[in-house]
Amino acid sequence: TIFVGASIGGLPIQYAQIQKAIGATERVFDLIDEEPEIIEEESSPQPIHGKLNFKNLKFAYPTRPELTVLKNISFEASEGETVAIVGPSGAGKSTIASLILRFYEPQEGQMLLDDIPASEFTLHDLRSQMAIVPQDILLFGGTIKENIAYGKPEATNEEILEAAKKANAHDFIMSFPEQYETIVGERGVQLSGGQRQRVAIARAVLKNPKILILDEATSSLDSESEKLVQEALDHLMKGRTSFVIAHRLSTIKNADQILVLENGEIIEKGTHADLLEKENGLYHKLIQLQMELN
Ligand code: ADP
Ligand code: MG
Repeated sequence: TIFVGASIGGLPIQYAQIQKAIGATERVFDLIDEEPEIIEEESSPQPIHGKLNFKNLKFAYPTRPELTVLKNISFEASEGETVAIVGPSGAGKSTIASLILRFYEPQEGQMLLDDIPASEFTLHDLRSQMAIVPQDILLFGGTIKENIAYGKPEATNEEILEAAKKANAHDFIMSFPEQYETIVGERGVQLSGGQRQRVAIARAVLKNPKILILDEATSSLDSESEKLVQEALDHLMKGRTSFVIAHRLSTIKNADQILVLENGEIIEKGTHADLLEKENGLYHKLIQLQMELN
């Protein structure tokens, strides 16, 4: 068992996994000495626990290389933590979400998952363990069932139903004559904003990701829908590392840490209580503004 926790090419190798992959203990030792690449290729997908760090990350979109959208971005999210990202429009909040999903590569710095550089995971392994509930939810033309199963095509009907219930979507789905077979999108039933959100939440529930990203909708939902969406989100976030681009005061207040972003930089970082103490801080101002609006 000397190889438990050993690291080859930066990837921790599980002894049991190696045994399973190759079958013979002796050959494991040979391969570790000589050809570790083979083991990496044959081992099962690298499971993510959910710790996520950004280290001095700098980023510009490839189409606008002259505009630095993020700079000196560093933070650490422990497994299971909720991190709220707040700041004015255009500050770079959604860009952070895109970088977590590795839609783009940073120009400087890096992202680490469980202390391993994100670049050492395949995109498939990485994204199969992440889910996003975006600001503008796009449902494709198809049934509600297909839309929920989007991230897990092999899901059974029972799993889909279970996910919809947890997302507070089951009742409205059952109210349509075709129920889960209802066609949505341009040629089908138009769902309300709150209903679309709950379908997207069901999609994320079904995927059961380690890392969850929520880009909260700014447009206000009717209060009944809002309550159902919020309940479903609270449920979804439990036990996962969650990044919430937050507009609702309740989400922000309850976060384990808050990153305050302005012009592409984290200018304040801490809990709600920590940040409120800085009376001249941006967070203090943002919260006051929020309270005046409510
Ligand atoms: P936020 O989510 O905080 O409102 P964004 O991350 O969407 O901010 O945007 C940050 C900056 O990046 C803005 O200046 C925006 O215009 C720019 N930006 C966003 N998306 C793109 C893109 N796909 N291509 C080029 N520039 C972009
Ligand atoms: Mg945004």
